Amino acid sequence: MKTIDDLLDEVGGDLKGKRVLVRSDLNVPLDGATITDDGRVRASVPTIQKLIGLGARVLVVAHLGRPKGEPDPQYSLAPVAARLSELLGQPVRFAADTVDVDAQRTAAELNDGDVALLENVRFNAGETSKDDAERGAFADRLAELADVFVSDGFGVVHRKQASVYDIASRLPSAVGGLVQAEVEVLQRLTASPERPYAVVLGGSKVSDKLGVIDHLMTKADTLVIGGGMVFTFLAAQGHGVGTSLLEQDQIDVAKGYLDRADEMGVSIVLPTDVVVAPEFKADAPATTVAIDAIPDDQMGLDIGPDSSAAFAEVVRGARTVFWNGPMGVFEMAAFSSGTRAVAEALTQVDGLSVVGGGDSAAAVRQLGFEDSQFGHISTGGGASLEYLEGKTLPGLSVLEEGS
Ligand code: ADP
Ligand code: MG
Repeated sequence: MKTIDDLLDEVGGDLKGKRVLVRSDLNVPLDGATITDDGRVRASVPTIQKLIGLGARVLVVAHLGRPKGEPDPQYSLAPVAARLSELLGQPVRFAADTVDVDAQRTAAELNDGDVALLENVRFNAGETSKDDAERGAFADRLAELADVFVSDGFGVVHRKQASVYDIASRLPSAVGGLVQAEVEVLQRLTASPERPYAVVLGGSKVSDKLGVIDHLMTKADTLVIGGGMVFTFLAAQGHGVGTSLLEQDQIDVAKGYLDRADEMGVSIVLPTDVVVAPEFKADAPATTVAIDAIPDDQMGLDIGPDSSAAFAEVVRGARTVFWNGPMGVFEMAAFSSGTRAVAEALTQVDGLSVVGGGDSAAAVRQLGFEDSQFGHISTGGGASLEYLEGKTLPGLSVLEEGS
């Protein structure tokens, strides 16, 4: 993949006077007009700063939420422009549309080193259209605004959308530093990971993670499974799981994985105890039971203390760890210990520790850990999982083909 430095040679050594369209991922949670977690805005800053330093005229394009292909004020990026301006320490001009009069005027009036943010790209039906021609026509209009494209929205590189995919074949293009860093880490997890390599999976649904289990089973030494999805595995082993989350139609698939792991010499570590409660409620009376003693009328909402200790030991002893999916219902304090124990262990890994997945990243922050305690926290849940499933990501492959 071409980086910004590679691109520089192509466009004549610097970016002075050049309008650079940067696709960032600025899809932050909002409460009214207040950004409740500005992590993605922060993550977008280094690439924008680098372009400013190169004298570029920077036009940032991004989406927020899921508007229906037309303007919808609740999804305006205006609050994000203000936050971006604070983080950059310079004004960020906000264009009230994406490719129309205001965007065009804004693009024309930028000076070297200036930054502008275009209004939500998903206010335009062409952005996410399944119709290649409609998407292409919108990408043509985006391309008219700029001389160069930089793809830095890692959270969207698995999307075949105009501002991610089609634009890259219309302008000289490169990946930004954020996408580059994410891809480098994912490559380390799939190409030649340092061993032992442990993969920890949790979260709510087995069916969401089948592709990842499938692919990583051939790479990892140990697969540790907790969270809501573990009950389907426990059922596959013949345990009663009470009223816990259970995907009945995936029991055979889970059994298949257990058998295959056995044949391949991959060790699968499952919990030996579990925290159960009669109801899915923060103040439900919680008790710890052995895995073969889950009462019929109770549900497992976290792994138990013995399991937490065992999982943590596997994690600490590994040189490469990928973790996706909380070990329990971490949103409720009574069921957050397993997730905390695994997170804590990840911070002690002598090697590469990676947290992927939206809820997992939220969990480590909510539990009070700092991003810097982990080797890497992916900004893109869906994109990182699809990469680890071995899928082709349109926003990356289009950059490999060149323009
Ligand atoms: P990620 O976004 O990191 O990929 P998921 O979306 O797969 O993770 O799963 C996160 C959700 O799984 C959390 O909201 C958490 O409460 C839920 N969860 C974890 N363990 C359990 C459990 N035992 N029962 C029900 N839900 C669970
Ligand atoms: Mg999730």
